[in-house]
Amino acid sequence: MGEARGALQVAENGESSGWRRPMRHLLSRWLAIVGCALMAVAAWYSGAAAGYALVLFVLLVGLVIVVDPRAEDDGAPTIATLQPAMPVDPLPSIRAAIEALDMPVIVMGAQADLLAQNAAAERAFGDLGEGQHVSARWRSPGILDMIRETIETATPNQIEHSERLPSERVYIVRVAPVEADGRPLFLLSFRDISELRRLDRMRSDFVANASHELRTPLASLRGFIETMQGPAKDDAKAKERFLAIMLDQANRMSRLVDDLLSLSRLELKAHLPPDQMVDLKPVLGHVRDSLAPLAADLGVEIRLDLPEEKVEVMGERDELVEVFENLMENACKYGQEGKFVDVVLRREPGLGTEVRVRDHGPGIPAEHVPRLTERFYRVNVEDSRSKKGTGLGLAIVKHILTRHRARLIVKSELGVGSEFTVRF
Ligand code: ADP
Repeated sequence: MGEARGALQVAENGESSGWRRPMRHLLSRWLAIVGCALMAVAAWYSGAAAGYALVLFVLLVGLVIVVDPRAEDDGAPTIATLQPAMPVDPLPSIRAAIEALDMPVIVMGAQADLLAQNAAAERAFGDLGEGQHVSARWRSPGILDMIRETIETATPNQIEHSERLPSERVYIVRVAPVEADGRPLFLLSFRDISELRRLDRMRSDFVANASHELRTPLASLRGFIETMQGPAKDDAKAKERFLAIMLDQANRMSRLVDDLLSLSRLELKAHLPPDQMVDLKPVLGHVRDSLAPLAADLGVEIRLDLPEEKVEVMGERDELVEVFENLMENACKYGQEGKFVDVVLRREPGLGTEVRVRDHGPGIPAEHVPRLTERFYRVNVEDSRSKKGTGLGLAIVKHILTRHRARLIVKSELGVGSEFTVRF
């Protein structure tokens, strides 16, 4: 960097005085010649012979021409000295430039030797050691062949490359020659596409899961229709039983479609935070009442513990109803054997507003807890299906809470029960 700055300063000096200095030299020479002429004329007037005055004039002019006024200059660079004698090494400037990038970038020489790495490369791959051949860190034939080809042909190349350690990452690795006079340099850059890949996989998993969930009840419906058209054509009792199952399957499909639509609506407005004040007390009361028939069927009682005063949060009422419906319904269904579901609403200084939904059921094994809010994730698929679950309830809850800038905290202990806390 120091060398580059030096070169720049010389150029600046030359720029500011380059045109003035030769003009000055030209003028001073002409003035000196005129001075010589005047001195010769003065000598002639004061009685010297004309020949002597002429010789004096020629001698003085010769002296002025021989003595280069530039030699007496102040040592400042002249036009001749403005041209850099040696090409400036581009490496320091390139090193400074790659430091500003947040993707890992490495500078290599023409032997694929590592000359510099930026901080992002050090974070991703550690200190690579200056002067090492690139193969000391990357043995992948794909990367090495690509680098060799770029060094030979001076054309950029890129490939996709995965790293397993320290964590699984996918990169687009690109190598390109740098236009830097004098020194052949090559930039090796790494664009991390792991997150893109993960989203892609999630999207395709989601489509596969949703199709699978719809296909199962559809296949069942088709099977019953065919049975009723064929073998059970005249069996009124069987038909009645089959129709009940078909209604069940149709309801399952419609629950799934409703949940899918709900998710997609939430995704569309994820970036718009709600702007109304909602009192949570009536919301929780309403949800408890709407779930009363289900709770009674399951033999569960939902107990509310609410403070006297209003507890308002910024939110959208219908979405908050959906959140607490999902949490209370899950607590009744999966914690059925605990008989009670306790819902506590608290506003505490420092902690904010919290709603805790606690059941006294069998609890959730710890390894499942972090994945509960993934779409279609269930601890037990058959159990969830038999309880009319779609596997999307907690995913919807998470989406709504994200939009409300709220968090879902899940605690569960086997044999004791689970607690789902919404913290605003
Ligand atoms: P589902 O539609 O299957 O209920 P959810 O997304 O609401 O889907 O829940 C995902 C899974 O989390 C459920 O299938 C169940 O296995 C588990 N789960 C949720 N709530 C509880 C709870 N209170 N107790 C035990 N397991 C629960």
